[in-house]
This record gives sequence, structure tokens and C-alpha cells, in this order.
Amino acid sequence: MNWQIEAIRRDFPILSHRINKERLAYLDNAATMQQPRPVTATVDRYYRYDHANVHRGVYTLSERATEAYEGVREKVRHFIHAHSADEIVFTRSTTESLNMVARGFGDQVVNAGDEIVISVAEHHSNLVPWQQLAERRGAKLKYIELNPDGSLDLENAAQQITAKTKIVAVAHVGNVIGVLNPMSALEALTHAVGAYLIVDGAQAISHLKVDVQALNADFYAFSGHKMGAPTGIGVLYGKAALLEQMAPVQYGGEMISQVTRTATTYKRAPLKFEAGTPNISGAIGLGAAVDYLDALGMNAIQTYEAQLMGPMLARIVAIDGVTVYGPQTAADRLGVVSFNIDGVHPHDVATGLDMLGVEVRAGHHCAQPLMQDLNVTATARASLAFYNNQADVDQLIDGIKQVKEFFLHES
Ligand code: PMP
Repeated sequence: MNWQIEAIRRDFPILSHRINKERLAYLDNAATMQQPRPVTATVDRYYRYDHANVHRGVYTLSERATEAYEGVREKVRHFIHAHSADEIVFTRSTTESLNMVARGFGDQVVNAGDEIVISVAEHHSNLVPWQQLAERRGAKLKYIELNPDGSLDLENAAQQITAKTKIVAVAHVGNVIGVLNPMSALEALTHAVGAYLIVDGAQAISHLKVDVQALNADFYAFSGHKMGAPTGIGVLYGKAALLEQMAPVQYGGEMISQVTRTATTYKRAPLKFEAGTPNISGAIGLGAAVDYLDALGMNAIQTYEAQLMGPMLARIVAIDGVTVYGPQTAADRLGVVSFNIDGVHPHDVATGLDMLGVEVRAGHHCAQPLMQDLNVTATARASLAFYNNQADVDQLIDGIKQVKEFFLHES
């Protein structure tokens, strides 16, 4: 395939910086992705030439800012294949998007005795809001268990999702094990009982072509900073009828239609969910990130990353004394490999790798129930983006071996 990796890497100036005097191998893309020049340049241009508040002024700058901001809604619609730009709500992040659904929609449809079903591998931001909702409404939170290899157990899902289920909330791709979940089977199980499917797309959005209509997701949440956009901007997609039904969770300027001393009517979705001055520059940066990913092509990105992931995973699995969590082969694995060097604390692994220029994350990855199931308190995690190259993978593998030798030698 004609993947211009060196040209792509030049779009990310940070990648050519040295870290601790070493070549940088940035492998914490699951936490946040680096930003390509066109995104930085678009935000810079916006501030220089078009900056004003949106939806307010009848003057030129405000109209320009509004046009740019609303234009991004259409870009995002196209990017995730939503039916209408009105189904795209700008939020701060995946976390805010999921909290919004749990509050504004969950409170309406979940009642005492109902059930909410999530998987045991969820990120806390797709877990705690449902735990809270269950508590508020007197409902039960149930977990779909994993197969021994770390993939989602569909037979168990079929048992957990019942006539009492009102909401099923799962990650499209997990942030610890990196498995692409069986979405069409989950969709069928969810809608067969009349429940709503809420998808946490944080780890999918930069790795594969997301099509919310094909997924038949009722809501889909993701963050801009995991796809090359600035921090502080995220998206909540919701089917039009459900967004109309959903209540706002923040009240104030911009989202109202009319306010009297005693009562307020609201604008229609999506504006009724965007109270106050939104993150205009963030949204504009998100639009540039969408353009950037579109130009590369999500299918090409997925193919390229799979070529890196297969050998990377196999080489980590092959290192003696290293445990890899989740499936040991790369089929249906996207972006992420979590591992431990036996007998070495993952924080020491990450610190040792950092000294060698390899940036990976160590910790519980905001998935403590999963850590409890895996019987660990933490793991190290290497995660890929489309700008990583073979040298990054080589540096990681050499680094793991060196860190292991260092600690074995020490003990
Ligand atoms: N869900 C998943 C699967 C994630 O990986 C993350 C980010 N680590 C989040 C939700 C939360 O994203 P944010 O911090 O941008 O809200």
C-alpha cells in the first residue's frame, strides 16, 4: 500500500523531538494523540482572522465564526455517517457526552427495577455515570463478562440483556485490551428487548471507519483529542428523535428559545445541549482533524495500523517473562497492547522505557473492575497511531528487553 509514512510524520513536528536525549517513540496514543500541523494552523488562522462569539452577533466576524463552527457539525456528520448534522452535539469530551446521556436520557427511561448492562471492561467514564444512574433510579447495573482470552463473552451478553434491560452501554473498542467488540450482535440483543444502545467510541474513532447508522447506535460518544484535534472538544451523536426527547443537563445562554420570569422554552437539538459559549476553536480544530483523517482515509489507516500491530503484538508475546493481556493474536485488536514484565511494577516499566525515549502509559487505565478481573493493579500499555512506524515498534521491543534485563540484573 502507498502509505507515505515519512510525509505523514513530518506533519507532526513533536515526533522529531528528542526525549531524554533519545529518539521519541510516542506510544500513548490511546490516552491522547499528537496534533498534525493543519489542525494547529487552522486554529491559529481562526484566532487571527475569524474569532468572535457564535450564534449571537449580526456582524461579520460572528457570522464567520458561526459558519465555521456549524460547518464542523456537517463535517462530523459526514465522518461518522450520521443522518443529519442536528444529530451532532459538541461536548467537552467522551466523558461529558456519556454523562449527558446518563443524566438527560437515562433519567427519563430507567425506572426502579430496570437494568442497565455494561461490560466489565468499560472505562470509568462509561461505568461510573451508569452506576450513578442506577443508584438514582433504583435500577440494577449488570456486567457482561469476558471470555478467558479477554474478548467479550456474547453468550453471557445474551444472558445479561433481558426484558428488564433499558440501556446497554459498551465501548466500540476497549482501551485496555484493545478488542473490537462484536457490535452487530450486541445491537441485535439490545434492540430485540427494546433497550437503547450507547457506544463509547473513544478508542475507535481514530482507528476505523465509524458508521453510526450501520452500527444502529442510539448514541455514540468520542473525544477530539484522541483523533488529532485539541483537548476540550468532544462529540455526542444521538438519533434525532432521541435527542429531541433528551433533556438538557446544563441551562443558560444559547440553548433557550424564550425565557420569562417563570418559565423557559428551549431550542431544538443540538443547540439545546450547548449552553453558554462553546469551545469554538476546539470545534474548528476538530473539523481540521476530520479533514486530515478523511484525506488519509480511515480504511487505509486501519490497514496500515494492522500491519504494525500484528508483528508488534507477536514480538511482545514472544518475550520471555512478559504477560500480554487479551487475545495473543492481532485479529480484532485495534491500537492497544497492555502487558506486564513479570516481577516488575508497570510504573517502573514505563519509567525505564521513558528513559529510552519510549512513551507508554502505566496504571489502571481508568478500568479498575477489569484490573480486578485480570488480577493485577496496573499494566503497562503501548498504543499505536497511524504515524507510528517500524522504528517505534523496534524501539519499544528493544526497550522492554532492556528494562527487563535491568530489573532482573538488579534483583
Ligand atoms: N472511554 C474510553 C474507552 C477511553 O479510552 C477514554 C479515554 N482514555 C475515555 C472514555 C474518556 O475520554 P476523555 O478523557 O477524553 O473524556
